[in-house]
Amino acid sequence: MSISTPPLNITWHEGSVTREERQTLLKQKGVTVWMTGLSASGKSTIACILEQLLLHQGKAAYRLDGDNVRFGLNKDAKSLKEKSGYSDDAAKRFGIGFSAEDRGENIRRIGEVAKLFADAGVIAITSFISPYSKDRDAVRANNKPGEFVEVYIKVSLEAAEKRDPKGLYKKARAGEIKGFTGIDDPYEAPENAELVVDTEQLTAEGAAKQILAYLTDKGYLAA
Ligand code: ADP
Repeated sequence: MSISTPPLNITWHEGSVTREERQTLLKQKGVTVWMTGLSASGKSTIACILEQLLLHQGKAAYRLDGDNVRFGLNKDAKSLKEKSGYSDDAAKRFGIGFSAEDRGENIRRIGEVAKLFADAGVIAITSFISPYSKDRDAVRANNKPGEFVEVYIKVSLEAAEKRDPKGLYKKARAGEIKGFTGIDDPYEAPENAELVVDTEQLTAEGAAKQILAYLTDKGYLAA
């Protein structure tokens, strides 16, 4: 398929409020806290607790959750067609599934959204399996140093399968879900994450507190 690329007549428009001014106003530094890990590692659970801990400290934080985003911004082709009235062609072009390419685009869009939140001074907490290093590294490369914090939510496949809160591993083992991370699709664990959170050693609350301590120590919670 050939893709036509007309010249883009767009120009970046600088605003008159700087990121630093926003930080001073909010008394915190905007950052993307990128959680990655197997399904059932605890990303969503820990992200919810972390968001609450931050808000209770008077910090602006917002969670972008894997499943939730797939209900909206990153809907699948079928939903776009049946619920939003997209043509077959448009639904195929814009809908997001679970192929390696689609997962990459899912992550790219989330990375951009998180970056906007961080630019607005908010602590953007993302919880996506984001199994491929190259996709996570692309998000990192799209941020300035210090504005992207990768947090590996670590769990063994065995423990994740035992938890299985949504019964997804069971379905994947039965062949009802294809391309499931950890079963018949790879999970590439980060090698240089800023933080590794071992959820077989810590409770979900303990894990959230470990991340909070990191953000505090590194000065993200001050202007
Ligand atoms: P993910 O978002 O990574 O798919 P979830 O947060 O949806 O994972 O599910 C993790 C499940 O594991 C939840 O039911 C949670 O209560 C349970 N769990 C058990 N121990 C932990 C832990 N130490 N940290 C996080 N979740 C845990």
